[in-house]
Amino acid sequence: MPAYDGITVIAGPCALETYEHTMEMAYKISLVRDAVRNFGIGFGYRGGAWKPRTRYHNHAGEREFEGVREQGLEWLEDVASAYGLPIVTELMSEDDLRHFGRHLEPERDYIQIGARNSQNYALLYAVGGTPFGVLLKSPQHGVDVKEAVGSLQRLGRNRQRVYCVRGQRRFIAPDGQGDAAFSAFLGQFMKGDGQHPDARNINNIGAIRVLREDGYFADNGIVLAYDPSHTFGGKNDEIRRMIGENAIRAVTGYGYGMLEIEVNDRSSHSKVDGDQALLTTVNGVDWPQTNAGQGPGVVPDAGKEPCPYPITLVDIAAALVDYRAAGMELKTDSPEVVSAKSRLGQISWDARP
Ligand code: PEP
Ligand code: MN
Repeated sequence: MPAYDGITVIAGPCALETYEHTMEMAYKISLVRDAVRNFGIGFGYRGGAWKPRTRYHNHAGEREFEGVREQGLEWLEDVASAYGLPIVTELMSEDDLRHFGRHLEPERDYIQIGARNSQNYALLYAVGGTPFGVLLKSPQHGVDVKEAVGSLQRLGRNRQRVYCVRGQRRFIAPDGQGDAAFSAFLGQFMKGDGQHPDARNINNIGAIRVLREDGYFADNGIVLAYDPSHTFGGKNDEIRRMIGENAIRAVTGYGYGMLEIEVNDRSSHSKVDGDQALLTTVNGVDWPQTNAGQGPGVVPDAGKEPCPYPITLVDIAAALVDYRAAGMELKTDSPEVVSAKSRLGQISWDARP
């Protein structure tokens, strides 16, 4: 993973919260992988053991949850050995590298460098001194090719480098008053194709074009990834649908080789990014355990009615099967395609290891 002519989907919860939940999600993601494995679609597991939060204290003055830390790496070690899923997980500090070396496999797994640390050169040099694969997020301010190359060049020894486009911040007015000063412009801009006015960030999916114009990426075998979850944020089903649509579009329309998507079947219990998580499947879903069922506002609909238009990991996998089948000159009713889709359709929300 990843094969250069294949597609890799990194899926899993934002933050790791409990052992049972970590393993449940890994099991279900492995079922999706098994269903589509003949189509050159690989899967990996994501989940933050360390979890950088924007706020340090919440409004009540309590510390925000910032991950289960080293214990999460122990759980991920079990995910990899039980389900054969390569791991992608964030490193925030050079001091924690020793734990990564103890629990993860450099030949198989990936260290993620988050948007906040995308240009933290000291951290990049430290990760660059290891043989782990590395997935580097684009910084919050957006994609700048020179900056991307500069950060990637510091990841010297890594056996593989992935550059992941993850949406960019909306503007902050020079007087620090949020983006009110730009609201007229933004109001129009955020109505454009592939944008949503209530999304957390601006969708910069098209940045792959300028990245590709620079020979550094092709010459060095850099894999280009897209993260729709942190591009859009969540908050309602309409935005969540755009997360799924753009995941598919990133591969089929833009040629990204990898997706990183937050998937969490119990998002109403999650402490971090529960709103933006996709479901594995709606087959047999217990809606109140999820944050799906939210209307176009930010308030959940009373009683959480089933979302009228979710796109799930299973739906994304089915769309990728169609895309790969076309490349393999297989008809959509060929036995291989029918069998993969039937296996996807049998995956149930309450499947247990
Ligand atoms: C994440 O992928 O868990 C994450 C925190 O993303 P980002 O660094 O892009 O905000
Ligand atoms: Mn997240």
